[in-house]
Amino acid sequence: MTTQQTTRSGWNIVGHEHAIDLLRRTLAAQQVRHAYLFTGPEHIGKTLLAHRFAQTLLCTGGSDLHVAPLDACNACLSCRKVLHGNHPDLHIISRAPDKQFILIEQVRALQSDSARKTLEGRRNVFIIQGAHEMNLQAANCLLKTLEEPEPDVVLLLTAPDPGLLLPTILSRVQQVPMHLLTSLQIKTALEQQWEVEPEEANLIAALAAGRMGWAVQAVEDDELLVERKAQLEALAKLPMVSKVQRFEIAQRISSDSAKARAILELWLFWWRDMVLAANKCLDLTVNVDMRNILKQQASRVGTVEAERMVRR
Ligand SMILES: [Zn+2]
Repeated sequence: MTTQQTTRSGWNIVGHEHAIDLLRRTLAAQQVRHAYLFTGPEHIGKTLLAHRFAQTLLCTGGSDLHVAPLDACNACLSCRKVLHGNHPDLHIISRAPDKQFILIEQVRALQSDSARKTLEGRRNVFIIQGAHEMNLQAANCLLKTLEEPEPDVVLLLTAPDPGLLLPTILSRVQQVPMHLLTSLQIKTALEQQWEVEPEEANLIAALAAGRMGWAVQAVEDDELLVERKAQLEALAKLPMVSKVQRFEIAQRISSDSAKARAILELWLFWWRDMVLAANKCLDLTVNVDMRNILKQQASRVGTVEAERMVRR
C-alpha cells in the first residue's frame, strides 16, 4: 500500500487511486487510447486528473524520450510548461462564459490543430472540459476526429455523467469513472497539505460531500463559507417571507447563471439534509454546523414534504 502511494505521488492528486491506476496501466502497456472520458460530480477533480494525465503523456523526464513515463517527473521543461499552462501541444477547450454551448468552430479549430505536427512533445493532447456542453453540431463534428484520429492525438473529455454524451461518442472513448472521496480523506489532506486547522478541516470536509475540488476552493476563498452560511440562512427564512419577496429573490438569483447553479446545488444538499433530519438521521447530514436549524425545520416540514423538495 505504502509503495503504491509513493509510486503514484508524481500525480499530486488526493484519492482517486482507482482512476490513476487505470491510466498508469495503459501507460505501462504503452496502449494509450485516442480518447478518454473522465466522469463524476462537479468539483470532484475531473479536469485536474485530465491535466495530470496530459502532463504525464507529455513528460520528457522518463528513461526513454519516446515513451511517456508512468508518473510525470514534475521537473522537466515539458512538465513545467504544462503546470504553467503554456505547453504548445496541450490544448484546452471549454464553453465560453458568454455562450450556451461548446461550438462547432471550437471543434474545427481542434481538428486543424490535431492535423498539425506536434511542436515539442510526442503527442497533441486536447482537454475538452465539460464535453456534455457541446451542441449537436459540435458533437457530430468531434465524432469525425474520434472515428479517424491522427496517430499522435489524445483527447481527454470531462463530463458529470456518461449519459449526457452521444452513444456514438461514448463507444469511442475509454471511460474513467471518478468517485467521491470519504470526508476523512478530505479532512486528512486539508490538514496535511493545506495546513488547515482540525476544526475547520472537519467542517469543510463535511460540506465538501466527497468533492476535493470544492474543499480546496473553500480553503482558498474565505468568502465561500461566509456566502454559503448567508445563503442557507436566507433559505431557512424563505417559508416565512411573502410570495412577492420570494419572486424578487428568485429573480435576483437567476440573473447570474453560475451563481444560480451554485445556490441550487446548496439548496439540494440542504433539502437532502432535511430528509435525513426528518428521518432522525441528523448525524448523516452534510451541513454539520447548522444541525440545530435543520432539526427544528425538519420537525415542521416532515419527511414527505422534504422528499418532494429534493425531487423538485
Ligand atoms: Zn516531466
